[in-house]
Amino acid sequence: MSMASWQSRSCAYLVCALVLVVATGAFIARASAQAGARVERHSLWVHPPEVGRTPESVRGFVEQCRRAHIETIILLVKGMNGEIYWPSRRFPEAVVKGYESFDLLGELSRAARPHGIKVHAWLVDFVEGVNSPAVRAHPEWAQLNPAGGTTATETLGKRRRPYPYIWMCPAQRPGYTDTWLLPMIEELARHPGVDGIHHDYIRYPGDVAPDSFCFCDYCLARTPRYAMLQYETRTSERYDVDVRQERVEANWWTDPTMMPAAYSKAERRARADFLLNGRTIPGGPPDVRYFFYDYRVEQINRFAREVRELVGKVNPRLEISAAVFKNPVQSARFIGQQWHRWNEWIDVYTPMTYRSHFAGSFEAYLDHLEETTRRQLEWTGHGRPLEAGIATTYLYREELQPFDDMNDAIDTLRDLPGTVEDALAGQRQLNAAVYVLQGTSGNVEQARDIATKRLTAAHTRLQERLAPLAPDTAKSLQALVDAVEQSAPDKQPAAIASLSTGLAKVRADLPPGFCPPEKLARAIDAARRAKPDGIVIFAASSLKREKLWAALEKAFAK
Ligand SMILES: [Zn+2]
Repeated sequence: MSMASWQSRSCAYLVCALVLVVATGAFIARASAQAGARVERHSLWVHPPEVGRTPESVRGFVEQCRRAHIETIILLVKGMNGEIYWPSRRFPEAVVKGYESFDLLGELSRAARPHGIKVHAWLVDFVEGVNSPAVRAHPEWAQLNPAGGTTATETLGKRRRPYPYIWMCPAQRPGYTDTWLLPMIEELARHPGVDGIHHDYIRYPGDVAPDSFCFCDYCLARTPRYAMLQYETRTSERYDVDVRQERVEANWWTDPTMMPAAYSKAERRARADFLLNGRTIPGGPPDVRYFFYDYRVEQINRFAREVRELVGKVNPRLEISAAVFKNPVQSARFIGQQWHRWNEWIDVYTPMTYRSHFAGSFEAYLDHLEETTRRQLEWTGHGRPLEAGIATTYLYREELQPFDDMNDAIDTLRDLPGTVEDALAGQRQLNAAVYVLQGTSGNVEQARDIATKRLTAAHTRLQERLAPLAPDTAKSLQALVDAVEQSAPDKQPAAIASLSTGLAKVRADLPPGFCPPEKLARAIDAARRAKPDGIVIFAASSLKREKLWAALEKAFAK
């Protein structure tokens, strides 16, 4: 064997060996993928304006998602005001103007599918706007509090602002669930552009009055019936507690009559009071509310089950995903959302483990995010894929706080009455005055002074970050603030309005680096330490506003 032929042969062996190594590697990779090797899922919540309404904008958005390794686009199709974004045949009155003839879901999925990107139709389930078509047609479907008011009679925040949404009763049949929401979901399930149904607000209200709903006539009658607190046979017979055991509540099984005799004829407030504060055993603890909470959990469970059954019939290839609160045990009590028991009805959990749901520093959040995600996987028993939900905006509490503080001061100055007498003239001014005048002994000028100082202080903090990154923007904002500070009281409203608009513009288009991208990367890493099945980001709009697309591309490329 000549040297040359040996060399060429050994070279051939080497090539063969290499081919073998590569082939073996590929085989191992395939085998481990088949054996369930983990591939991180990536999803993104998306509002319709981000996608746009032209073929170019749709393609451009999908291209951005592809670069960021997003596999599921969760597209809002039913919003907080009950407005919908598909050309519905059954609910044309709810379709947003401009979407009657534009098939957003169809366009998006046509662009997304060739890249292996799925589209889930995202519904705000039980919330409607105060003037939405559902509320106008069926005001009786609304949830009611013990005073008989809807959620729109409640207030939100320190300023006691009217809550602008109406939560619909999930329990009533016939009602909102079976004659509005389920038919909408059926229509979406038949839409060829839909790969999944996404639940949001699949619960009772949480930031307004969690214990005050629902006491509609239907629920007042059905809550005790659900728990069978009395028999429907021989309802007039009463049975006293037969005290046999030392512990008072141990006598529950002697089958005493738990419902007050006058319940069905009592006022709404009295019946609600029994459901919240009543005792099943005289002298025992106020435990009737246990059944009230359990009833609410059952209503939400029932809806999740019905959607699973409906989708199974109409289009079994669809996935069902759900945005849920971080702690299913606590949310069962507060909002009827016991989601860790939903493995049969949900294919993918996307818990909103946002920083806004945690107190403490950013560093504390990273630890709590990891710990909470671990616990979520424990609670569901890893029964379904779970994607840790991160909202970018709330990661930047420290950086964005000056905006909130400035807006707060702006609202105060705008609402501030000329005199206390003016304040008493209108509810809005009264609310503001009560809030602002706290600690100022009713002195309007002193209150104006305090609000202006707060505005200046917040603006100074904002400028520390803004000026080095965007000097021109910083200068224009400074001029707007100066105008407010220097204007006479009668000219101030115009200056405040200009500042408010100018500030919103800055917030909507922050300079790159204002929100440090490494915070997003660190949050994703913290969630990953808990080994969830994926990461879901809220939202496309905030990635754009906060200039974080590049950071996401990098984080998801790993
Ligand atoms: Zn109800």
